[in-house]
Amino acid sequence: MTKKDIIELKQLLSTPRKIVIVPHKNPDGDAMGSSLAMYHYLLQFGHKASVIVPNDYPKFLKWLPGDRSVMIYESNVKKAKAEIAAADILFTLDFNALNRTGAMEIPLSESKAIKVLIDHHQQPDTYAKFVYSDVAMSSTCEMVYHFLEMLGDNKAITADIASCLYVGIMTDTGSFRFSSTTSTTHRVVADLIEKGANNAEIHKNVYDNNSHQRLQLLGCALNNLKVIKEYQTAYITLSQEELNHFNFKKGDTEGVVNYALSVKDVQFAAIFIEHKVEKIIKISFRSNGSFDVNTFARNHFDGGGHINAAGGRSEIGLKDTIEKFIAILPDYKNNLKS
Ligand code: 5GP
Ligand code: MN
Repeated sequence: MTKKDIIELKQLLSTPRKIVIVPHKNPDGDAMGSSLAMYHYLLQFGHKASVIVPNDYPKFLKWLPGDRSVMIYESNVKKAKAEIAAADILFTLDFNALNRTGAMEIPLSESKAIKVLIDHHQQPDTYAKFVYSDVAMSSTCEMVYHFLEMLGDNKAITADIASCLYVGIMTDTGSFRFSSTTSTTHRVVADLIEKGANNAEIHKNVYDNNSHQRLQLLGCALNNLKVIKEYQTAYITLSQEELNHFNFKKGDTEGVVNYALSVKDVQFAAIFIEHKVEKIIKISFRSNGSFDVNTFARNHFDGGGHINAAGGRSEIGLKDTIEKFIAILPDYKNNLKS
């Protein structure tokens, strides 16, 4: 984002506008945190802002300030389409291509609104007039913090905004431990705590709300863990039957893939989760070090993301997907052996 862009955006935001804020499908902590932070920021300046998410999000994010104002596109298609069509400005947060919003892709691409992209994923598309893309950033929430600073509005960060931003930085950095966490990230977080983000409470709200069944599902996932020593790879599977057995709820599998990555010497980890209704296998990839899971997901599983965290999908059933995955590994043997 250039100085000229900031001046133009400041000018644009100097009178009340109709603004729609959109995160990616299956919104996570960073998507919801950045969207609601932006929402609270814009409301202060008299804009008519709304957050429209493509589909529902996990319960552990439903305490976020402003949560009740969030519109779910899937369940309000007509109203959401009307708001998108009437918007002057669209903020698209935490994604790099409009197809990451699922069914919202069409209304968003047809919209005449001025689009602003703020995102940290690899290889951003070119749909937006204003682009703030930085793949080195820990999270979109950290970027929203820097964006508000660029606008000269650090002082407009209220306790609610600080809490929202804290959530996304915390979740996208694995609680400040991934290599994307920089000294600047910590400075940002320190400022957010000073501005009223209650770090201990936020941590508890997000991570210490497990149901008994969720922990049993985790037990099942860990039981299914397989390690392929030769390729320093580990993977977990969860079938629809297993998910049903433990009364799966949205968000229950969040973070489970990290257990596969935590196995000693493992560099590459994956989790394959069967979705019978959507007829897909949803996949999460994680890596330690230089193995690029964004490229892997793009090349083989219709996905993408970051170098060390990406997602993808497969439409050939769980068993065949695993076979395909294992069959691809030898192509990467030079990258997957120490
Ligand atoms: P997760 O595995 O937690 O769902 O996602 C890991 C990262 O990859 C996130 O930053 C997420 O936005 C991105 N991601 C997940 N699924 C997809 C996908 O199907 N396509 C693309 N391009 N990115 C994805
Ligand atoms: Mn993110």
